[in-house]
Amino acid sequence: MTKKINIAIDGYSSCGKGTLAKFLAKSLNYIFIDSGAMYRAVTFAMIQAGIGFDNAIELEALLPKLKITFKHIPEDDFYHTILNGEDIETEIRSMAVSNMVSPVSKIQLVRDFLVKQQQEIGLNKGVVMDGRDIGTVVFPDAELKIFMTAKAEIRAHRRLNELRENGNLAISYEEVLKNLNDRDYSDSNRVNSPLLKAESAVIIDNSELSKSEQNELALAIANKTISTI
Ligand code: C5P
Repeated sequence: MTKKINIAIDGYSSCGKGTLAKFLAKSLNYIFIDSGAMYRAVTFAMIQAGIGFDNAIELEALLPKLKITFKHIPEDDFYHTILNGEDIETEIRSMAVSNMVSPVSKIQLVRDFLVKQQQEIGLNKGVVMDGRDIGTVVFPDAELKIFMTAKAEIRAHRRLNELRENGNLAISYEEVLKNLNDRDYSDSNRVNSPLLKAESAVIIDNSELSKSEQNELALAIANKTISTI
């Protein structure tokens, strides 16, 4: 039987990490985990409970009550984020959550809580996980690490189209671009597990690549890695 590996995909906001991770997981019959959705779910729960960033006591009490899972929805061939049994996929993509998720993800308590769960998911291998610290902190021993990037303006246009397709017509290009730039800055400059390219990561800049070119390139790299273990 072919051995399974873990694949860590890190990179800037909205550069197609999720699309690539999903494609690889499907092609290799691996599990796909969107770690950003887990940070978004915690952010959503904090907003709902009215807990501020600096309220460590209430946050510590809240975290053990959160059960985050993913459910594949055949109608849109998408993994929805489920929080305590409730589908919160739409809510966690809102600008309200997008604007608060980076400050929340700086909190070490939150990172410890989520990283532990992410590492448990990876124990049996066969996982493709995308995020910011997957190759550096979550799976430092991942057999394949990919670092994705693309020009900010291209990423903002792609994200805007996605939001429009989902019915968010009120958001402007400038607002999306600002959110991406702010999150990139905050994610790259935070003290706790900043976004960093792992030393051994392969860089994929998809500014000039189509989705299928990017997917085929990464799948070829993954198959080559699998054949060598
Ligand atoms: O991937 P996505 O853009 O949905 O992630 C939302 C936010 O969650 C990021 O901007 C980052 O602040 C945080 N995040 C993180 N570590 C990860 C994944 C996401 O800090 N592994």
